[in-house]
Amino acid sequence: MAGTARIIQWWLGHEDREKATEQGHWIWFFGEPGWSDNLENLFWKSLRECYLEEEFRLAFQVTKPLWFALWMDSPLKGSRCSILAALLCDFLPIVEESIEECLSTTEELNDYYRLVTTLERCAESGEPFYVNIGANGHADLGWDTTFPRCPRCKAQVIDKYPPNERVPCQVCGFFFIPAETGSRTRMPRPSL
Ligand SMILES: [Zn+2]
Repeated sequence: MAGTARIIQWWLGHEDREKATEQGHWIWFFGEPGWSDNLENLFWKSLRECYLEEEFRLAFQVTKPLWFALWMDSPLKGSRCSILAALLCDFLPIVEESIEECLSTTEELNDYYRLVTTLERCAESGEPFYVNIGANGHADLGWDTTFPRCPRCKAQVIDKYPPNERVPCQVCGFFFIPAETGSRTRMPRPSL
């Protein structure tokens, strides 16, 4: 399975993650736009089978891939937490399968359980669930690179873009200047 690993960070208690009372994360290979029509179909199938499609469309902005819609607003509250918990619960067999294919430990599965149970808890209590998708990038040959990404849904920009020009995000439609969202910086030299 090809794709990109992205980290979903979540926390409770305070808008500022540094002041969170509880936090966790989950990493999954889900791919960037254009990666998996199959995954996209499975999301919609889950929503239909859980009778959540209408509720989902009212509560979330629909993106393509749908994946990004789940995490683009923070904090999530009330019904959005319960819709997301139900969807992720229905998705559990697919996550288990992806872990068998891609990952060497079941730690990610425990992270997933914790994510779902925390969402369920927030849905009941009304507590805000703060969430963020970590940036895509890599560190190599002394350079730390962050790829350009949409500031709204956090999808990576994969198409060519004109410098200093606003373009619509291919996933959510938000207009932004891609060049302003990526960076490449020299990593500090390790002291000998
Ligand atoms: Zn976007």
